[in-house]
Amino acid sequence: MSTYVQEETWDREKMRDLQWERLKTTIERVYENVPFYRTAFQEAQIEPESIQSLEDLQRLPFTQKHHLREHYPFDLIATPIEEVVRFHGSSGTSGKPTVVAYTQQDIDHWADIVARCIYMAGGRPGDILHNAYGYGLFTGGLGLHYGSERLGCATVPISGGNTSRQITLIQDFKPRVICATPSYLLNIGETMKEMAIDPTTTSLKYAILGAEPWSEEMRDYIEQLFDIKALDIYGLSEIIGPGVAMECPEGQDGLHIAEDHFLVEVIDPETLQPVAEGEDGELVFTSLTKEALPIIRYRTGDIASITREQCVCGRTTTKMSRVKGRIDDMLIIRGVNVFPSEIERYVLQMEALSSHYQIHLSKKGVMDHAVLHVEVSESFFDSIPGQDLKHPLAQDLVKDIQHTLKEQALVTMDVQLNAPNTIPRSEGKAKRIVDQRKASVAQT
Ligand SMILES: [Zn+2]
Repeated sequence: MSTYVQEETWDREKMRDLQWERLKTTIERVYENVPFYRTAFQEAQIEPESIQSLEDLQRLPFTQKHHLREHYPFDLIATPIEEVVRFHGSSGTSGKPTVVAYTQQDIDHWADIVARCIYMAGGRPGDILHNAYGYGLFTGGLGLHYGSERLGCATVPISGGNTSRQITLIQDFKPRVICATPSYLLNIGETMKEMAIDPTTTSLKYAILGAEPWSEEMRDYIEQLFDIKALDIYGLSEIIGPGVAMECPEGQDGLHIAEDHFLVEVIDPETLQPVAEGEDGELVFTSLTKEALPIIRYRTGDIASITREQCVCGRTTTKMSRVKGRIDDMLIIRGVNVFPSEIERYVLQMEALSSHYQIHLSKKGVMDHAVLHVEVSESFFDSIPGQDLKHPLAQDLVKDIQHTLKEQALVTMDVQLNAPNTIPRSEGKAKRIVDQRKASVAQT
């Protein structure tokens, strides 16, 4: 394998030609095989033949999460069920689960895409790769697993949880690459410290982290904690799973989209119109090669921007910014919009605080009320006489945090200091928001 996979350095015209060929096939496939799309196209008075260019894609209707739920389990599948070799799905915490399906060719493409991501991050054939993403219906574990094997890495399928065992295997197997959610890798690193193991002394060189929004400050923190390169991977099951986009270590300022397989758009979530390059909006993806579950203009709910400027690494593919947050997770606190990852930035900048926080939401009358629960670091806790979080020193810290949030993020919120190790640790996706709004309404 050369430094790049060929398609990553194609000139843009060549990539557009390939995308157009593949888009035509995808549109024909869904029109012929999926009644949901045929009906949606007909309602919009669009024949597949009238789509004549990549730009015409914008005339097609969007697909949203609720469409997947409404057609649960198999009604969006474009192949006979006999051709499906794998299902994945969401947990369905907010209603019915969603199911996604893959043919053997889909699995092969996905493995190729993820192998390319691991290679981009710095992984090489022969490396040992420790995969701490959850295995199961969630796409993280098996997505990275097949890509790792495809690249030729010796893969440790440990999944999430059982942190002390993870640490033993990292010490014994000496992996060069680790894959996890950022919050879980943080948990592993801090648990190492508690066990008097210096995380910077492990064999790990590269971390591939994703499945939850995280901040640049969290990256810095993890890189220092382990003396490692921490790189962002993006994906969602509705599009394929992890691997839709991957950050290169040379640039570390955006994720290269696998444009030979996925077509990206960025829209204003209110007007649904495209936004200019570089402007934040909602990411929308169309799959270009999927057989079992092709998807047209899927609204991801993820907020990011894109750029087509060539990257310092030499790749020519479109890059997306780090995801700033999900539309669903955006908090509106006294009229100000803010994502949890923005709060995280300020928490990580303050030395007196640990990196563990949660935002609790409740109702005060008709208004949303937000309280930032954050742990003070051990050293600060030790410096408070009697370790009393009501002590004036602690109260000064609360004022300091409130002032920073007000000045920097323009949000006014209450702050509650917690003793070290009192906020639940992540073993997969971190729980940043504790929403008690329905409960507090019921009480009033
Ligand atoms: Zn790059």
